[in-house]
Amino acid sequence: MRNPIIGGNWKMYKTIDEGIKLAKELVNNLCDLTECDVFICPPFTILEKVSEIIKNSPVKLCAQNMHWAEEGAYTGEISAKMLLDVGCKYVLLGHSERRRGEPQEFDEIINKKLKMALSKGLLPVVCLGETRKERKEGRTEEVIKKQITHSLREIDKIDILKVTIAYEPVWAIGTGDTATPEQAEDVHMYIRNLLSQLYNSEVVEKVRIQYGGSIKPDNMKDLIMQDNIDGGLVGGASLNAESFIKIINACKISLA
Ligand code: PEP
Repeated sequence: MRNPIIGGNWKMYKTIDEGIKLAKELVNNLCDLTECDVFICPPFTILEKVSEIIKNSPVKLCAQNMHWAEEGAYTGEISAKMLLDVGCKYVLLGHSERRRGEPQEFDEIINKKLKMALSKGLLPVVCLGETRKERKEGRTEEVIKKQITHSLREIDKIDILKVTIAYEPVWAIGTGDTATPEQAEDVHMYIRNLLSQLYNSEVVEKVRIQYGGSIKPDNMKDLIMQDNIDGGLVGGASLNAESFIKIINACKISLA
């Protein structure tokens, strides 16, 4: 049995006051949460403020990105040590908006970041997924296989247990076009089988795979009922406490 894990990616939204308000609303409503792991990913500018608000609550802090180096002359970058310093427990790596951003983030860089995050004790959430064009061309599995094998290169079976995989089809992110539960489950099952070939199936049974892409309170229930969907990475719907809380509550049915 894998407990659901739900993340809220605030992306480049929320000023200090807005972030404080949202964090307080979440803490006030989720104080008795025990069965699910919940994290939020505020922008760097408000990590510290949000960290203070959530510190004694079940809601954990996640950064949206980090650099692969320990420290150094990397203007504008943030290190794993800095994230730990501010109270982060998790870090998102390889979000599609970064894989396709400027500069583009490739699997090799994500792998370097993953190794650094693990060596410092952060819990990484590795994001991956195919574009609409890749799906239309029937290349979904090929793309996922490449992303998994390259980004998880040299990660051993102890460390893979600390990693959460977020399957986020690019065509579903911010588009309102959610994958059907069956479409998502097919890819989640493929990812789990792939991981079983890289590690062993006993270990891989414990690895959590989140789905992400236009999750709303209404579609979470059907997604979480799939055998290999262990939670959600939520963008737009996590910017509002009411909808994010409804999504978390929807995930609890998988525990019943
Ligand atoms: C995301 O940012 O990871 C995401 C899935 O966004 P949205 O829920 O808005 O599609």
